[in-house]
Amino acid sequence: MKQVKQRTFLVALLVLLLLTGTVIFCVKYAVSGREWAEFPANGHAYTEGRLSSGQILDRNGVLLYDAASGQYAEDGELRMATLHAVGDPDNNISTSAKAALDSHLIGYNFLTGTTTGGHRLYLTLDAELNRTAYEALAGRKGTVAVYNYQTGDILCMVSTPTFDPADPPEISDDDEGYEGVYLNRFLSSAFPPGSVFKLVTAAAAVDHIPDLWDRTFTCSGSVDIEGDRITCPYAHGQMDFRDALACSCNGVFAQLAVELGGDTLRSYAESAGLLSEHTVSGIPAASGSFEVSSGSQLGWSGVGQFNDLVNPCSLLTLMGTIAGDGTAAQPRLIARETSMSGISRTTDVDAESISTWSKSTCLLLRNMMRNNVTASYGQYRFGDLPVCAKSGTAEVGVGEAPHSWFCGFLDDPDTPLAFVVLVENGGSGVDAAGSVAAAVLQQAVTGE
Ligand SMILES: [Zn+2]
Repeated sequence: MKQVKQRTFLVALLVLLLLTGTVIFCVKYAVSGREWAEFPANGHAYTEGRLSSGQILDRNGVLLYDAASGQYAEDGELRMATLHAVGDPDNNISTSAKAALDSHLIGYNFLTGTTTGGHRLYLTLDAELNRTAYEALAGRKGTVAVYNYQTGDILCMVSTPTFDPADPPEISDDDEGYEGVYLNRFLSSAFPPGSVFKLVTAAAAVDHIPDLWDRTFTCSGSVDIEGDRITCPYAHGQMDFRDALACSCNGVFAQLAVELGGDTLRSYAESAGLLSEHTVSGIPAASGSFEVSSGSQLGWSGVGQFNDLVNPCSLLTLMGTIAGDGTAAQPRLIARETSMSGISRTTDVDAESISTWSKSTCLLLRNMMRNNVTASYGQYRFGDLPVCAKSGTAEVGVGEAPHSWFCGFLDDPDTPLAFVVLVENGGSGVDAAGSVAAAVLQQAVTGE
């Protein structure tokens, strides 16, 4: 009898242990299941360390990458144009969808785990618009981005140099042609902004200098600030503040920067979002920088030189907020996600919004940016499109051609698009980057 009691006790103990173990497992599974599933040793999601489930598509359903087969888009030019958005075979491009959004591709589910073969991840990109941007860059280094500032959808995001991920080249560290090829310049780089930064100086000036609109400025081709000379390409002559932005007079903006002071300029760069790290569907972007200085250095930083640096993604967002009276949607890259059989796996989440300057300041800038195009750059470059813009030609070093910038938006509520174009060493902002912007915007609006 005593033996039976002992055995009963032993069995009860074993059952208790089993139950405890099961409970501990279930709790751990609930907490860490996703982590286990996304561990590269999981044979359902990975083959020899390579992600093997899920697909990446553009907003229209064009297949850009199939993880099961490791195949990219059929069209070679599309592969080049979408490389930084989609990713390379070895995941050297850490901000790509393949590398940074892999958990969406694995599509882990608490009940089915990873046995359903991953998810279809539809990016907000229009692959054909990427192709147009890539062709317009014509082998030059740089970046092109267009986004809908009401929804946040990034329709175009191209970074060059690029390569064909279906046939990756051998790239050595000192290869000039592939300099920074694994960086998405739109997300991960910061560049001297040149005259596009005059928008920041202009915003500070309209808020802080009461008689700004009554002033008349005279440019003789250069201005001396504390013994240092700040030059313009030629003498701009007499002008008001609006004309000064349209002809991008360095003398006027350098003097305004000194009058405003370094701390004020920095606070406007900050409230513009240019010094923050934005995130795009959870992918972190680089921030820019602005060093507070005085005298001629402050003059130069007021015209986007000295130590000013701007990240293209934050500049794009600023363009969206100027168009949106001070507020815009944060750029995003994920349009939707479905199971492999097409069942929706995400509910539509509204993009977060970002605010920069006051409505009245943004309205003034918008009118001035429209005037830039009609009075200075030439409406003929953009057909019928109501482009509001600022060009930039940023000096980057002795003997090097300047970087060419063009950024802005369309002044039309039916096509709420903001854009940024950078052509490295492209020369004139309007000619180089402006014509890339014209080609991409034309297609974004008309589909041609
Ligand atoms: Zn001038």
